[in-house]
Amino acid sequence: MAAEIRVFTCLTDNFGYLIHDDATGATASIDAPEAGPIIKALERESWTLTDILITHHHGDHVGGVAELKQRYGCRVVAPHDKTTKIANVDQRVANADVVKIGNLLARVLETPGHTLDHVSYVFDSDKALFAADTLFSIGCGRVFEGNYPMMWDSLLKLRALPDDFKLYCGHEYTASNIKFALTVEPDNPALKARAEEVARLRADDKPTIPVLLGEEKKANVFLRADDPAVAAKLHMKGAKAAEVFGELRERKNKS
Ligand code: ZN
Ligand code: FE
Repeated sequence: MAAEIRVFTCLTDNFGYLIHDDATGATASIDAPEAGPIIKALERESWTLTDILITHHHGDHVGGVAELKQRYGCRVVAPHDKTTKIANVDQRVANADVVKIGNLLARVLETPGHTLDHVSYVFDSDKALFAADTLFSIGCGRVFEGNYPMMWDSLLKLRALPDDFKLYCGHEYTASNIKFALTVEPDNPALKARAEEVARLRADDKPTIPVLLGEEKKANVFLRADDPAVAAKLHMKGAKAAEVFGELRERKNKS
């Protein structure tokens, strides 16, 4: 049986995610921005939290861990990186590790760049990618701790996943990402279609996530830094993909 996934808001613009295995009753929270909304989401479904899968050490992704662990005695899984300060961790994971949530299998992909410890979790059977602050819809995370080639490599890892996988990202940044992306690619039909869809969703106060990875590959310019047409738009013909990506990221930072 397929996993059940719930999407809700935490803090201001973080997404909270629960993934539940009906067969065993296991439920994981992907990150824990704050405890309150996660507890409420669990109570709405009468689910008990068994696991927290942490993507990276930033406060808006781990702020609720201590309270949730205290309340549910759940297992806390976090990236393996000696430099991070994530507390209350039971299991450290690295690239290609597989974590069991009941009968669900989460595959770990190291996706550094935003932070050095950043990992993404892939549920292959459910075609679900939890990419936190590496890949956003029509954008990507800021490169705080890594460098542009590192972040570009991480995005390539995510782009390699099949088109019918769904992206669940860390923040509701889609509308502002679209505003920027249209300055680079005003004529991209996939981007324009996504812009209309997102305007409708936001008007109804609905989340813009999940979104199909196949759609992101067409509409998200940050996933196409190796496309000569994108380089040409930035007057960077012949530049390396990581350089084109860096230019995109810097323009977004200033936007
Ligand atoms: Zn972050
Ligand atoms: Fe974040």
